[in-house]
Amino acid sequence: MPKVDKKAEEEEEAEKKRKAKRAKTFQTVRGMRDILPKDQPYWQRLRKVVEKIALDYNYERIDMPVLESREMFERGTGKTTDIVEKEMFKFKTKGGDDVCLRPEGTPSVMRAYLQHGMQSKQKPVKLFYSGPMYRYDRPQEGRYREFFQFGFEAIGEQEAILDAQLIQLAYRVFQTVGLKNIALQLNSIGCKECRLKYNKLLVSYLNNRKAALCMDCKKRLKKNPLRILDCKEEKCAQVVFQAPQTVDQLCDDCKNHFTMLLESLDEIDIPYTINPRLVRGLDYYSKTVFEFFPESSEEETQGALGGGGRYDYLAESLGGPETPGVGFACGMDRVVLEMARQNTKSYVIPVAKVYLVQLGDLAKKKSLKIFDELERAGIMVAESFGKKNLKSQLRLANQKGVSIVLILGQREALDETIILKDMESGSQEVVTFQKVVDDVKKRLKKSADIAANKAKKEKDAQKKLKALNK
Ligand code: AMP
Repeated sequence: MPKVDKKAEEEEEAEKKRKAKRAKTFQTVRGMRDILPKDQPYWQRLRKVVEKIALDYNYERIDMPVLESREMFERGTGKTTDIVEKEMFKFKTKGGDDVCLRPEGTPSVMRAYLQHGMQSKQKPVKLFYSGPMYRYDRPQEGRYREFFQFGFEAIGEQEAILDAQLIQLAYRVFQTVGLKNIALQLNSIGCKECRLKYNKLLVSYLNNRKAALCMDCKKRLKKNPLRILDCKEEKCAQVVFQAPQTVDQLCDDCKNHFTMLLESLDEIDIPYTINPRLVRGLDYYSKTVFEFFPESSEEETQGALGGGGRYDYLAESLGGPETPGVGFACGMDRVVLEMARQNTKSYVIPVAKVYLVQLGDLAKKKSLKIFDELERAGIMVAESFGKKNLKSQLRLANQKGVSIVLILGQREALDETIILKDMESGSQEVVTFQKVVDDVKKRLKKSADIAANKAKKEKDAQKKLKALNK
């Protein structure tokens, strides 16, 4: 019987391979990628940490659609920004609506805030999200066309303490996932008035040096001069080096706001560098702007793990009332890359300690029920319902290193009993269906207690050894 099964299995495998060869296979679209199970432990750890810290800091989760109105990003993020002008995936629906795949989350959160009348809630309204974003950029490591961000937004208040608290929160996320040496850069670009004054000064400075700018920056000079400050071209960086600085043009209110932020960061021992060329490139920013870098790549914007700032005019540009806000977003793909680079602890995916083996059609059917009962009782069970042969199932159980194997053969299925094999002691007994959940539970508890005891003894022994060596 096992011999026939093996032959049938081999034949099945060979046929599968022949079929795959005949079929045309597909690949992911450029710039998109699968995040495979083997990569999930870091992702899972990051997701869990973000959720835990959101809870600790009183942020509520919000999920926005991936498809949004194109005009919303043109008005919110800004028509002349790279994200909107060059990188947006935009199209018309069959019904003629102009839509796009969201390139970032902040305008969507503000839209949701206005659309659902969250102004009436107690302020600040604290929201967080995570999900995919889309930008049509040149793909490379750490830069994809579909990437994932988590973001936090505190809407409704303008106190600088909120900016400081958001930075503290971001730091907590980095710290909790195990990242070290994260550098914070910040700047203040002031309010509307400061920006107007500063823009004039900057344009007059740059007009005199126009010839030395790259083609893009020559265009930016008319459309969005602030963007020239963070251009990555070497020749522009040289021109910008001596340019007037935003912090020198702040009005009293903006100056106080920035000072309060810096003093608050000092209070919580978060180190920072003021970068006068940091402007963050999007239209909606005002006052505070900041970015986080892993220390190894501080120089490249491409290496930024995340960034954010204040957006006190965003609500108005989306047609809402004056509403201050502050937030940040982090690239999850980049945080995960950095976690791998720094070899941080990843999430330990729980594994089953019980394996369910079945033999014959009736046992197969009954196994589903046993599996369901164990799962409902909170017991993880591994199985291979697609297999027929006892040997191959036991081999798999062994590979998984389970402590209990449950064997349901044809006879047991008729008697409504099951063979319980304790892999640690090697003992075996027959238990009834009614008793199996309780029995497994007790045995798992016992073996967990033994393991905990053993671990404690080892730890104590190590402590003693250390004390003796001192
Ligand atoms: P931004 O608001 O554009 O500064 O984006 C915030 C963060 O999202 C960045 O610091 C990156 O970590 C991440 N990010 C932005 N664009 C991409 C991309 N194309 N691929 C991967 N991550 C990205």
